[in-house]
Amino acid sequence: MDAESFRSAGKEMVDYICEYMQSLGTKRRVTPSVEPGYLRPLLPTEAPEQAEPWNDIMQDVETKIMPGVTHWQHPRFHAYFPSGNSYPSILGDMLSDAIGCIGFSWAASPACTELETIVLDWLGKAIGLPDSFMAFSEGSRGGGVIQTSASECVLVCMLSARAQAVTKLKRKEPQVAEGVLLSRLMAYCSKESHSCVEKAAMICFVKLRILEPDANCSLRGDALQRAMEEDTRAGMVPFFVSTTLGTTSCCSFDCLSEVGPVCRRFGAWMHVDGAYAGNAFLCPEFKPLMRGIEYASSFNTNPNKWLLTNFDCSTMWVRDRYRLTQALVVDPLYLQHGYSDQSIDYRHWGIPLSRRFRALKLWFVIRSYGLEGLRAYIRNHCKLAKRFESLVRSDLRFEVCNEVKLGLVCFRLKGTDTLNQKFLSSINASGRLHMVPASVNDKYVIRFCVVAQDATENDVDFAWGVITEMATELLETYKAEEAERAAAEAAAAAAAEAERRRRETLAFKRSFFVRMVSDPKIYNPKIAQALAASPPPHGGPSGAKGAAAAAIPEDVEGPSMGLPPQVSPQQQTPLASWISWPLAFLFQGVLDDVASSEVPVRFRHLDTMVRLKPGANGEGGELDATSPKSTTPSPPNEQSSMHKKSPAKSPLLGRKPRGTSPNKRN
Ligand code: PLP
Repeated sequence: MDAESFRSAGKEMVDYICEYMQSLGTKRRVTPSVEPGYLRPLLPTEAPEQAEPWNDIMQDVETKIMPGVTHWQHPRFHAYFPSGNSYPSILGDMLSDAIGCIGFSWAASPACTELETIVLDWLGKAIGLPDSFMAFSEGSRGGGVIQTSASECVLVCMLSARAQAVTKLKRKEPQVAEGVLLSRLMAYCSKESHSCVEKAAMICFVKLRILEPDANCSLRGDALQRAMEEDTRAGMVPFFVSTTLGTTSCCSFDCLSEVGPVCRRFGAWMHVDGAYAGNAFLCPEFKPLMRGIEYASSFNTNPNKWLLTNFDCSTMWVRDRYRLTQALVVDPLYLQHGYSDQSIDYRHWGIPLSRRFRALKLWFVIRSYGLEGLRAYIRNHCKLAKRFESLVRSDLRFEVCNEVKLGLVCFRLKGTDTLNQKFLSSINASGRLHMVPASVNDKYVIRFCVVAQDATENDVDFAWGVITEMATELLETYKAEEAERAAAEAAAAAAAEAERRRRETLAFKRSFFVRMVSDPKIYNPKIAQALAASPPPHGGPSGAKGAAAAAIPEDVEGPSMGLPPQVSPQQQTPLASWISWPLAFLFQGVLDDVASSEVPVRFRHLDTMVRLKPGANGEGGELDATSPKSTTPSPPNEQSSMHKKSPAKSPLLGRKPRGTSPNKRN
């Protein structure tokens, strides 16, 4: 393609994009109606040897690609979080692609580096981050950088915190190998944190303790403090805490003003993940949600989510850029340049060497909208979410399941999880709206997020109309089915219970009779009294109940005895948490030293509970994987809770699997 052809195809492409954007809501279904593998038969199996006409390619876009696209910019798309998009941003990316520089160092393209530093200072100040995060503030060691994703921000910060922690330990214990020091590091996050924190811990090869938040899904200081104290006593070293402002499931906010001081006390790095909500801090009325940010060592937010900027553009700031880069510097001769002592080389701030000129689109967006325009955009979404919330509250069949602070409303039909799964499934399958589920306080909820750039009250009302109409339809059929099912289940349960009681009573009578013959304390009141007065063996119950308990045949749970189960004080007030062990399945030997600790080990990505049990010889640990049906509910996160029950999440993923689909998700 030469410049003239590009000029003409480019103009056509701009027309195509405008037409796509403007007619999206009326001409296209929000989710595609295709099944895995749909594209393979439509395209040749080999790449073309000869050049093909541009028009043929564009023709295929419309007839073969578009039918398989989920339209994230569609006014009926209310899933996940927004995917930033705007004309200035598209143009910025277009120019960046044309310039095509790879800005890994200042010298590799000075404007690419310098614009990034300046724009990140603009945005950081506008958000209200502390001055120490700004590259150009007096005496600051901080600065901002654009990464590809929030996941990468969390990983990079954890890597830095890990390097710092191991260095510190090595100074104290120079004779101990780094690998051993590494095995003592413990990172922390809440159950509500995004799954990327767990992935970062796996990559960093550190243990991650996943803590239970409070009833508002907020991580509190006391939970963290108790966990850190417990771990320190056990010889572990708390080194990193990932907090969230605006969690994925329900947009809850960790309490930084409590968590921050605990991090300080234990010398741990506090990262703040504001992937979605961080953008809202442009508005003064939302800044109180980030109270305690002064304790943060690092912060990230994604303009490519909620600031009209196209993917990829995840902005991250650190308080100490030297600490950050220490963990990531490698400096071969071919990348060095004469100005490295006076400039920033962003290759030391992240994982890849190559970097696109991403600051350009963010700069275009900020200048084209102005901070006021961006605030208006955020406020519009928040106002519409409030409108949706009040519609939900006005219908007694529904309940709101989160505190609606920004643009996300979690709601459900009053009733069972199964009912709500069915409900969401039918909405998504209809193609009239697209939403995804999450688990909030162990309940299946439906997330309604205001997503479209120019979302209006009409869009919210339309969505509510679809939701109520489909709820009425579903409840009518579901109620009748449920009543039938419940009656059948109750009858079956009653019969089973009667049979269980009959067997139990029989067993009890038989066992009691055998004991009476061989064990005098059962029927001799003097012996029973003496036993009641003596201390219990092995810490068992004492007093009259103890004697009674001792008198009960061990193998029979006397149905009428009414004795409380033995509960140790530790069991009474458990510190609910999981520990995610790095690659524990592959390296089971790592677990040997904690085999007896009965620490639950959790692999959230596999949705599997693994408990450590002492080995047969009392030494090695053994992994006992149980299904999610086991004791602990699986925590919500985008991967597990949004994608777990496929029929409810997307009509695309809800279809029956085809054996060898090339599109199979891992
Ligand atoms: N953190 C939070 C709070 C999120 O909501 C998400 C995604 O929705 C992420 C992290 C991961 O974002 P990314 O896809 O940029 O890695």
